[in-house]
Amino acid sequence: MVTQAEVTGLDGNDGMLEAIRWRQGTSGEDVRRPIRHLFLFIGAEPNTNWLFGSGVMLDAKGFVLTGRDIADERRSLETSRRGVFAIGDVRSGSVKRVAAAVGEGAQVVATLHAHLAASGQESPVVANR
Ligand SMILES: Cc1cc2nc3c(=O)[nH]c(=O)nc-3n(C[C@H](O)[C@H](O)[C@H](O)COP(=O)(O)OP(=O)(O)OC[C@H]3O[C@@H](n4cnc5c(N)ncnc54)[C@H](O)[C@@H]3O)c2cc1C
Repeated sequence: MVTQAEVTGLDGNDGMLEAIRWRQGTSGEDVRRPIRHLFLFIGAEPNTNWLFGSGVMLDAKGFVLTGRDIADERRSLETSRRGVFAIGDVRSGSVKRVAAAVGEGAQVVATLHAHLAASGQESPVVANR
């Protein structure tokens, strides 16, 4: 595994990868190696700067804190602001996979209904065909 590197070129023939060139981030050294397979893992950075000052707590990396990361009695997926929920990759501690994000989206509906019932508001009407 090569980390902190910038891919600068892919060499090959007939659509087949033969070598990869990259610049090593730490030393700036240009490297070329005969490699036939490449998996890029570019990572993720949460776009949550706009939440500063909103009362929604973030972890040290900027992911949104929810549930027990805030307080024991906090609802699952609920942020530090009552009635505000976070799901998917932006949520601190989430699995960072498509199926997990979709699952949290389904899960939060029940939590929203529970929140609305507890706060004396009606649940939103969901229209079906
Ligand atoms: C390189 C890479 C490879 C991956 N490979 C896999 C894989 O093989 N299998 C797998 O299961 N998962 C994979 N993942 C993870 C998967 O993509 C995520 O888990 C999934 O997309 C999370 O869904 P999400 O809805 O939480 O976030 P996202 O899909 O990131 O959706 C968030 C959306 O919000 C938008 N947005 C951001 N800020 C704002 C704003 N201020 N206002 C309005 N909109 C905004 C963004 O543009 C984006 O469209 C991969 C991720 C990366 C980066």
